[in-house]
Amino acid sequence: MKCALVTGGSRGIGKAICIRLADMGYHILINYRSNEAEANNTLAQIREKGGDGELLQFDVAQREEIQQKLGGWIEANAEKTIEVLVNNAGIKDDGLMMWMKDSQWDSVLKTNLDGFFFVTRLVINSMIIKRYGRVINVVSLSGLKGLPGQTNYSAAKAGIIGATKALAQEIGRRNITVNAVAPGFIKTDMTEALNEKELKAMIPVHRFGTPEEVAHTVAFLASAGASYITGEVISVNGGLYS
Ligand code: NAP
Repeated sequence: MKCALVTGGSRGIGKAICIRLADMGYHILINYRSNEAEANNTLAQIREKGGDGELLQFDVAQREEIQQKLGGWIEANAEKTIEVLVNNAGIKDDGLMMWMKDSQWDSVLKTNLDGFFFVTRLVINSMIIKRYGRVINVVSLSGLKGLPGQTNYSAAKAGIIGATKALAQEIGRRNITVNAVAPGFIKTDMTEALNEKELKAMIPVHRFGTPEEVAHTVAFLASAGASYITGEVISVNGGLYS
């Protein structure tokens, strides 16, 4: 059975990615941190459309938990192969650097950057053995150009972009591609507090994007046909300069 693991699949962009990859025939492993009800909602929507999957709860900021729960799943499900990994789980906790607390820096770096490392290191093992895989990292415009008030988040996302390019070179010969998708402003819980009316003035297409528009790009990179694209960052930002 071919599986796709999507971290942070319970809400927003991750949820749209789960639904889209299920349409491609993948059995979806829906990871989430705490919102089991929304994770179940994602699964229900996948099943409504004739697909299937399962919930896989773990906190991507906790390396022992990743080892125990994701590692445990991999060991217990030898007949299932994770062919696609989407590192999507992420948080932001904004503030100007001069007032940023240690805890804001630590939590954002741990969730976004450490999470990418510990999850990916576990999952690429079997991709290397099977000589096929797709790793897609959801980064951000913030990691490309830097945004004031987001030194922690920009650093984390820029770190993942560097790692994407390095890992792509390490495992390209094994038929595994590693790419990143960099959304701009997308309508989700994460951007709920932002003023779209004001911000859309600086976006060439003049609106926030949808989770489905990001999922479409992720699905393209996950497809077998995207086999000669690796180490790339594709922006999905309505034309915002990056
Ligand atoms: P969201 O609506 O806030 O959803 C976040 C998702 O990540 C939820 O499923 C949440 O799980 C999960 N999550 C958070 N921390 C986690 C942890 N420690 N372990 C496991 N899962 C965790 O966010 P979103 O807007 O869809 O963002 C998804 C990704 O896109 C993030 O990496 C974000 O940085 C990136 N991004 C978003 C935008 C945007 O405009 N929205 C722009 C650029 C980049 P629970 O439901 O259990 O809390």
